[in-house]
Amino acid sequence: MKILFTTTEVVPFCKTGGLGDVCGSLPQELARQGHEPVVILPAFRQALNSGRPIEPTGIRFEIPIGRKLMAGTLLRSSLPGDQVPVYLVHQPHYYDRPELYRENGHDYKDNCERFVFFCRAALDAIKLLNLGTELVHCHDWTSGLVPAYLKTELAGVPPYDSIRSLLTIHNIAYQGNFWHWDMELTGIDWKYFNWRQMEFFGNLSFLKSGIAFADVLTTVSPRYAQEIQSSPLGCGLEGILQHRRNELSGIINGVDYHEWNPETDPHLTAYGGLNYGVHNFAEGKRECKSALQREMSLPQDPASPLIAMVGRLADQKGFDLVAQLIPTWVAQSPAQWVILGTGEQQYHELFARLAQQHPTKVAVRLGFSNELAHRIEAGADMFLMPSRYEPCGLNQLYSLKYGTVPIVHATGGLADTITNLTEHTRLIGTANGFSFDTYNATALADALERACRAYDDRPLWEQLIRTGMQQDWSWNHSAREYTRLYQRTLTCAENLVCG
Ligand code: ADP
Repeated sequence: MKILFTTTEVVPFCKTGGLGDVCGSLPQELARQGHEPVVILPAFRQALNSGRPIEPTGIRFEIPIGRKLMAGTLLRSSLPGDQVPVYLVHQPHYYDRPELYRENGHDYKDNCERFVFFCRAALDAIKLLNLGTELVHCHDWTSGLVPAYLKTELAGVPPYDSIRSLLTIHNIAYQGNFWHWDMELTGIDWKYFNWRQMEFFGNLSFLKSGIAFADVLTTVSPRYAQEIQSSPLGCGLEGILQHRRNELSGIINGVDYHEWNPETDPHLTAYGGLNYGVHNFAEGKRECKSALQREMSLPQDPASPLIAMVGRLADQKGFDLVAQLIPTWVAQSPAQWVILGTGEQQYHELFARLAQQHPTKVAVRLGFSNELAHRIEAGADMFLMPSRYEPCGLNQLYSLKYGTVPIVHATGGLADTITNLTEHTRLIGTANGFSFDTYNATALADALERACRAYDDRPLWEQLIRTGMQQDWSWNHSAREYTRLYQRTLTCAENLVCG
C-alpha cells in the first residue's frame, strides 16, 4: 500500500513528544512489512539541522493563503536505512524558527496559516511528486485540514478522489483552534463552518475538521479511544467523537527496539554502565544504577530504591500530584529520585529547590537529553508516570524493556499496558507494575508504598522485572493493526459509511 504520512514531528528530524517517535518508527515498520510509506513534514529549522542528508528536488509550488500566494519548495531526504522517503515542505518564513509551535510559552501568532500552508502543500506534493498515494495517514491537529480539503475542494478531482484519509489523534487537548475569520486563510467554503464540521465554539478548529472529514479515526490506545468519547477527556470534542464512534478505534503505539534495547543501547556503557538482557538483568541493572548515581552525584547506594521521571514538566504528566507528595517523601523515605524534564516554570523551581535541599536524595536535570533518558531507564528501579491522562505513553514501555518497574495512574495507554500487582496477577504472572485508579496524592502515595514494599521482596521484584522485559511492545504488532485498518478503509467503496 502507498501511504503518505502527514506530520509535524518525525524522529530523527524533529520531535517535541511521542508523535515524533511514532512517525519515525511506524513508517519504517510498514516498509519492513512490504508497504510503501512516504513521510512529509515541514522543513522546520530543527529538521534542517538534524544531520540527516537533505537535498532539493527542484520542485516549486505556490499555495493560496487567503488572498496571497505563498511560494514553497520540496526537499528530499529519508528515514535512517533509506527505505522510507521523506519530503520536507520548505518555506523559511513559516518554518525557520527556533521552535516548532510556540516560543516562551506563546503559540506563534500565524500558526493557522503555517499549517494551512503545510496541509495544502502536502496534498500538492502527491501530484507534484506523482506519489500514487492511496491513503493519507494524518497526525494531530496540524494535519487536520488534509481530510477537510480531500472532502471539500478536492472532492471528485483526480488523483484525490480515490485517496482515503485516516486521522490519528495523539493528544486531543491540542486542537488548533483559531479565530473564525481565519476560515478565510483556508480557502474552504464558509458553508462548512458549522457545528458538525469545522466550527468549534465559534472558532475554526483544525482537529475537529479532521475528525469530521477523515474516513477513519484512531487514537493511540484503546482505553483513550473510549475516554475521549466523554467529558472531561474529550476536551469538548466528545460529541463528534461519539457521533463517529464506529470509525474510531485505538491502536497502542509500539517501541522502536532498535533504539530502546538494553542489550545494545550504546548510551548505557558511555558512563560505565553495562548492556544487559533478561538473562543478566540483575548484574546489568546494578551496574547501570551505580553509573547513574555517579553521573547524577547521588550516593552509590545499591539498596535505596531509585525512582525516575522523564518527560514534559506539565500538569498532564501528574506533576501536580508529585509536587504535593514529594517533599514529605524525600524527608521520610530512603528512596532516591532522578528527574529529567523541561516545562512549566513552577516545576522547574520546585525540583531545583528540592535538589538543592536534598542533594543526597534528589537529582534533577532541567533539559532535554535523549542519551540521559536512556541511562535513566536503565539505572532506575522504578519509573513514575502518574499522568492525569495519557493517550498512550512511551516511557512506561521503555521502562518495561529496561527492567524498570512502572508506577502509573490507570488511564489511557498506561491502563492498557501496565498490569497492577495484586495477589491474583502475581499468581498468574501478568503483573508488570503498579497502578492507582483515583487521581489524587493519597492514591499515588499508596502506589509508591506498595512498590517500595515489593522492592524489598527480591524474588517478587525480579518476577515483575522479568515479566516486563519479556513482553513485546514492538511496532511489529501495532503496524499490522494499522495495516488491517488501512486495508479496510481502502476497500470501503464509499467514505464515511464503513464500519
Ligand atoms: P508526550 O508525547 O505526551 O510528551 P510520551 O510519553 O508519549 O509523552 O513521549 C514522550 C517522549 O519524549 C519519550 O520518548 C520521552 O522519553 C521523551 N522525552 C520527554 N521529555 C524528555 C526530556 N526532557 N529528555 C529526554 N527525553 C524526553
